[in-house]
Amino acid sequence: MYDTIIVGSGAAGLSAAVYAKRAALDFAVIEKEYLGTGQIAESERVDNYLGLYGESGYELGEKFRAHAEALGTTFIEGEVTEIIPENGGYRVVISDGNSFAAKTVVYAAGASHRRLDIKGEAEFSGRGVSYCAVCDGAFYKDKDAAVIGGGDTALGDALYLSKLARKVYLVHRRDTFRANKALQEQVLSKDNIETVLNAVPVEITGEKLVNGLRVNQSGTEKILSVNGVFAAVGTVPDSGVLKGIADMDGNGYIIAGEDCVTSAKGIFAAGDVRTKALRQVITAAADGANSILSVEKYLSENGGQIREN
Ligand code: NAP
Repeated sequence: MYDTIIVGSGAAGLSAAVYAKRAALDFAVIEKEYLGTGQIAESERVDNYLGLYGESGYELGEKFRAHAEALGTTFIEGEVTEIIPENGGYRVVISDGNSFAAKTVVYAAGASHRRLDIKGEAEFSGRGVSYCAVCDGAFYKDKDAAVIGGGDTALGDALYLSKLARKVYLVHRRDTFRANKALQEQVLSKDNIETVLNAVPVEITGEKLVNGLRVNQSGTEKILSVNGVFAAVGTVPDSGVLKGIADMDGNGYIIAGEDCVTSAKGIFAAGDVRTKALRQVITAAADGANSILSVEKYLSENGGQIREN
């Protein structure tokens, strides 16, 4: 039986692994994707992780992982399908049917891309509709693309695409962006980014591939002629397996403070999946550290009550 199982290999999960090693815990990391490093891999550059300016998100993720690997972390590949209370601890079941017993769980599964839920989105997914500019941007070299959203991701994606595409429309449903001011200034200084404000996406059109985005701009419909549509409209927490086990807020984030303690004894929520004001790679890494401190405290207070089988 593990002292803890860490679910997720993004910044929170890998930071938890580093701290779990330092605490000499018996643990493993379960990751959904082979060699995964979470959402950070999709950021073109990270300017706000202390000490690292202009780092590629992909490379930063690789460094996080290399750190955890160098300390001898055990990685298990699989999607967690169930977390079942057992013998005072938990049994964590993964997609291939294997399961692992642990005294505690650090749940750091992160979040997934929110869908637009408009006509054409599902139909053209992978044929012009994308959720990751860094992954798919190269397909739009010298073509036209639209990015939807007004947050850091959307503006970062628009900037990234502006270096490849001929023209980028940045489509936002309001007239003010929520992205940080520095990004806004960079976007507004680009000649080939056109902001389309107060515009709600209605339909993605195409034949075999995407050829347009229909938007309703302040009551008037218009079609933007584009080859690609990048949806950057936020994320939804991957918290489903803890439904009925740990308390969540109305948006599905697991309720926990900085100590990562949840309403479920022995389950700790770290990173983007927990309720917090600022979801960034630096706060995710901090959660990983804090969660292990809470695991140690919990084990010293409750470890004796957990049966090994
Ligand atoms: P976000 O901040 O939640 O922004 C989502 C954007 O999509 C908002 O502008 C929202 O509009 C819009 N939106 C939501 N649903 C929509 C819909 N159905 N149709 C059209 N537009 C829709 O998400 P994010 O940009 O992915 O950022 C998530 C978190 O990661 C944030 O905390 C962000 O700071 C962080 N992040 C940080 C960095 C960085 O620091 N380098 C990079 C990327 C992300 P409204 O504004 O009207 O709500």
